[in-house]
Amino acid sequence: MTRHDQWTAPLEYAFRHAVKYLREADLRPVGAFATLDALRQRLGGPLPDEGLPSEQVLDELVRDVEGGILGSTSARFFGWVIGGTLPAALAADWLVSAWDQNAAIHACGPAEAVIEEIAGEWLKRLFGLPATASFAFVSGTQMAHVTCLGAARHRLLVRAGWDVEEKGLFGAPAIRVVTSSERHGSIERALRILGLGKNSVRSLPCSHAGQLDPSALHQALSEAAQPTIVILQAGDLNIGACDPFAELVPIAHEHGAWVHVDGAFGLWAAASPRYRHLLRGVELADSWTNDGHKWLNTPFDCGYAFVADPQAHRGAFSHRTSYTMYVDGARDQIDWNPEWSRRGRAVPTYAALRQLGRDGVADLVNRSCAHAHALVTRIGSLPGAAVAFEPTINQGLVRFLDPRPDATEADHDRRTDLVIAQICATGEAFFGGTTWRGRRCMRVSVCNWQTDTAAVDRAVAAARHVLDDLLARETRLDNG
Ligand SMILES: *Cc1c(COP(=O)(O)O)cnc(C)c1O
Repeated sequence: MTRHDQWTAPLEYAFRHAVKYLREADLRPVGAFATLDALRQRLGGPLPDEGLPSEQVLDELVRDVEGGILGSTSARFFGWVIGGTLPAALAADWLVSAWDQNAAIHACGPAEAVIEEIAGEWLKRLFGLPATASFAFVSGTQMAHVTCLGAARHRLLVRAGWDVEEKGLFGAPAIRVVTSSERHGSIERALRILGLGKNSVRSLPCSHAGQLDPSALHQALSEAAQPTIVILQAGDLNIGACDPFAELVPIAHEHGAWVHVDGAFGLWAAASPRYRHLLRGVELADSWTNDGHKWLNTPFDCGYAFVADPQAHRGAFSHRTSYTMYVDGARDQIDWNPEWSRRGRAVPTYAALRQLGRDGVADLVNRSCAHAHALVTRIGSLPGAAVAFEPTINQGLVRFLDPRPDATEADHDRRTDLVIAQICATGEAFFGGTTWRGRRCMRVSVCNWQTDTAAVDRAVAAARHVLDDLLARETRLDNG
């Protein structure tokens, strides 16, 4: 067998399977209905002593995962904030695996290092961030927080006369973090990793619209003069709320604070002329995070960190050794990233941006927002449902109401979870639940490039059937 033949059979098998999987998404349930036991049984067993031909490995893999692949690339998947994968991004990602470069430094993969440089510049332009900002391609917003907040920690402690990279945090001046009570949990985790700890966080309440109040921020910052990080959001996980950056950032800067923005998905709104105004002033901040694997529809994993102060960014992460090779004038990813060996993550982003172009990105954002609005208002107006939050961008909330006249909020909470589970059980659409301001709600999140009016119609019809069935059964019980 020639070497060539070793590749062809497994890769062709994977290709045929992948294309079938993606093309037949409309015929399959969106949910993953295989049981935990079934998956463990099919995939498990002792590690065999003898190996298998690669095509047999592939064949059995595809057979054994049946029912265990969640349809999160489907046009009718509205859970969490996930996104599908654009054809060019997916295909480019296959090539990343085939090329198998270690994207740690330029010398290990010159083309991928340059692609990363270019894609980082394009993203800054799309988001309207400062042209001089530095960036890193990381696994997601979680690690982008670690990267940005590592740069913040460096800068704030340098100003306080403390070299955190040399001395660590033992005996360092304490850093305070001021942020919104409706922040994402990845922020606490980043603070834990960085040694700042959850106790450094001061949470401020937000308005009904999910925004921090400028006077409350001013007051909190005036209480003590201390190195401070203010964390704002461009798109919170439940309702997509964006803070009033143009007012908040100058207040934070007057108090010498570093302003970090969690823009995991919401920063994409800046790429659309229709929604850009929601992010007015976001470019004034000191660092920003965003995910390609959400709204840009790159495959997992792909997140971005941007830092307005490249020296602080590099100060926190740069790493040089005697055995690495440096190329004059090149950008070495390891100077900006927390990882050492890593995947050429920028390539799918580059491909996605080239497939869509500026207009395509704006169109993707606009369409997603319109479909989210239609889903929330149409499902929310069905008998037995209520709109809990009408989307401003691509996130909204619906609540389902217990029809009994004496029903309490706790009954509506139970009803909401029941209806979400029943809609998911139809296999027609997938939604998640959340507790928003003390109440259970169904989250509606749209960030898949394939979601269209037909997908929305099918999801609304599934919700209508579930609600009709429940009401019909209850009426029968009442009458019988
Ligand atoms: C998804 C999300 C995160 C976490 O991002 P990962 O890419 O999963 O690490 C953080 N903040 C917000 C607002 C998010 O939506």
